[in-house]
Amino acid sequence: MKNLGFIGAGRMATALARGCVTANLVGAEGVLASDPHQPSREKFAEELPGARVTGENAAVLSECDTVVLAVKPQMMDGVLAEIRPHVEGRHLLVSIAAGVTLERLARQLPASTRLIRVMPNTPCLIGQGASAFALDAAATAEDAAMVERLLASVGKSYEVEEPLLDAVTGLSGSGPAFVYTVIEAMAAGGVAGGLSPELALELATQTAAGAAAMVAQTGLSPAELRSHVTSPNGTTLAGLNALAERNGSAAIQAAVEAATNRSIELG
Ligand code: NAD
Repeated sequence: MKNLGFIGAGRMATALARGCVTANLVGAEGVLASDPHQPSREKFAEELPGARVTGENAAVLSECDTVVLAVKPQMMDGVLAEIRPHVEGRHLLVSIAAGVTLERLARQLPASTRLIRVMPNTPCLIGQGASAFALDAAATAEDAAMVERLLASVGKSYEVEEPLLDAVTGLSGSGPAFVYTVIEAMAAGGVAGGLSPELALELATQTAAGAAAMVAQTGLSPAELRSHVTSPNGTTLAGLNALAERNGSAAIQAAVEAATNRSIELG
């Protein structure tokens, strides 16, 4: 990729730009980000030496063929109205704004604009994201491959049909908060057993990371892995029974479903 543009030079844009440069998808000098907020521009330029910043959104369209729309959802309509006269056939627009549908984007842009909608999550900020993306009708397989490479530079990515992005939002978008809650609750259990809060949090965090890596790396299902650590009358079984008595799994599933439903309502 010769150049990569960002409209909005905030946290997510910075993480994506850094990922793409580190993965050699684009040189830092090929990155151009626009933002009306000077401190955001300064921070972006500071975190990505060699990258260029501007206060003019139109400049990003004139220089870059692939442009990531990285503003907050409530700023999106204003940004689209501003960039619309500058969008041409050579452009691929990639929106990462939560809840902004392809239809809403397309309605405000020239006909047949190539559009891709991405649902990233916060671990993208440290290169451990889980993102999903959906193509609109005008976007090509090449566009999809490009976005896949872009997202792979900050974690894992998966292509889905757009209606499934609500379920993605409920699972991987909101999911970090559910996992934080599990980690916090496990640590509290350790503190109740006499561990210091610091040690309990470290052990809970590393246990969550280790367990996730076991699922990712062994190819075994969570149920199989669970059976490996559960012996009859053992400690793990006692813990799992306590979880089951309180409907622990159902509660976590309900959290994902409620977040999905809220995403549908907001869309
Ligand atoms: P952020 O607030 O860090 O960045 C947004 C930037 O847009 C700010 O620097 C702001 O000054 C700039 N901006 C405001 N108005 C503008 C305009 N008219 N033109 C150009 N730039 C403008 O936000 P973020 O966390 O980077 O989120 C960006 C998008 O990513 C949001 O739409 C959010 O829904 C989506 N998203 C973020 C995360 C996340 O983990 N941070 C996760 C999922 C989705």
